[in-house]
Amino acid sequence: GGIVYWMGRDQRVQDNWALLHAAELAEAHSLPLSVVFCLPPPAAGSPSTGPGSTLREYGFMLKGLREVSTELAALRVPFCLLHGGSPPELLSQFCAQHEVAVVVADYSPLREPRGWKEALIAARPATPVLEVDAHNVVPVWVASDKREVGARTIRKKITEKLPQWLVDIPALPPRAAADPQPPAGLAAAAAAMDWVALEAGLQLDRAVAETSPTHPSGAAAALAAVDAFCDERLKLFADKRNDPNIAACSDLSPYLHFGQLSAQRMALCVKQHAKARSDSVASFLEESIVRRELSDNFCHYEPAYDSLDGAAGWARESLELHASDKREHVYSLEQLEGAQTHEDLWNAAQRQLAARGKMHGFMRMYWAKKILEWTASPAEALRIGLYLNDKYSIDGRDPNGYVGVGWSVMGVHDMGWAERAVFGKIRYMNYNGCKRKFDVKQYVAEWSGK
Ligand code: FAD
Repeated sequence: GGIVYWMGRDQRVQDNWALLHAAELAEAHSLPLSVVFCLPPPAAGSPSTGPGSTLREYGFMLKGLREVSTELAALRVPFCLLHGGSPPELLSQFCAQHEVAVVVADYSPLREPRGWKEALIAARPATPVLEVDAHNVVPVWVASDKREVGARTIRKKITEKLPQWLVDIPALPPRAAADPQPPAGLAAAAAAMDWVALEAGLQLDRAVAETSPTHPSGAAAALAAVDAFCDERLKLFADKRNDPNIAACSDLSPYLHFGQLSAQRMALCVKQHAKARSDSVASFLEESIVRRELSDNFCHYEPAYDSLDGAAGWARESLELHASDKREHVYSLEQLEGAQTHEDLWNAAQRQLAARGKMHGFMRMYWAKKILEWTASPAEALRIGLYLNDKYSIDGRDPNGYVGVGWSVMGVHDMGWAERAVFGKIRYMNYNGCKRKFDVKQYVAEWSGK
């Protein structure tokens, strides 16, 4: 079986350092190369354990993987999608069946994929498993060796390393016909894949539908979206990215989340406009490198990244002190999910999320702050915020989401502010503040009927 790249978080062929490393090993040791993706069984979901897997999420992922399979076939690299079991079990059987020499995996800081890797290593102690951070520009463990306090403490550590890491990425070379080939059964299984039947057979929450017109899936669509952003909206990014009525943001997070787009490639493309649009390029690189990689740093070094135990001491103490403060409004998960609060702006944001699969970045902060204000306790607010974010966002179940909701509800990477009821020292946001920043009526009108 030779060298296998175990594709996980980075679902693309080009601009993928993990696949490049696997290819380099195959070349150096004259071994076959193949790529394996183990489809995680869809989650059943419940309000206490988190949402079930949706058609929105799996549809987007499977379409991108189909493109991966076609692209790899053109490079003579077999692609196997294994399903019907837990990823480490599937891969461990595959390694035994095909006598795999080395597994190269990409990297994720999240609990589940980390557990899968540990399980594979336990099941196949003699098979080397290498991990390559193909998601971040500066690998997480190189950027910092500890949980960082916030953007101000990681910024210098990352930016001083960029000259070494933000470099061009070589193309994946095609395998030659004369190169060692994987076992014939493996290539045949890859070619026989029935993608439509696979998707139709999965137990998914199909009520959360795909949003393909706004976000066509796949690496080619992702690169086209980068070009469109650079041509049309980058010029507005520095000044207008916090106005939810103006299309100034990149809208690239779904592609980054599924690894259909390399953050490094995206940064290289945007940097080409540095002369003409220096402010926008600087603020885009701040968001897409410093802030994004700070999220991976948090989830990498903080095992309790999705619970109140992950809050800093000052924030946890303050939230505990105010946990029994009287709330003016208390809403259930069902009321929030159905956009049935007293407030038009919050309801509009929730509708935007449900209909479009993505809420504007500024509204995400306001939306989660109000969940803290309008639910029975901070723990409940965190649970509901993550549940709704992960159920409806195409880019959900991402370190950015755990940090984004954590920032809003439990002050992750923030500092203490003037103490007030319910919020304690957690930063507060209100309706009047939004009115000062953008045309609230316009946003509400746009999303009121959806
Ligand atoms: P742009 O503004 O164009 O930014 C470009 C890229 O920079 C983004 O794609 C993202 O990768 C990164 N980025 C931007 N803002 C942030 C930020 N605050 N923190 C970390 N990285 C950032 N992001 C997700 O990817 N998935 C989520 O599930 C998610 N949930 C969030 C929930 C809440 C409550 C909050 C406050 C934020 C959340 N974010 C999440 C972070 C951020 O809002 C999104 O990354 C951003 O809105 C994505 O849209 P965009 O690609 O147009 O971003």
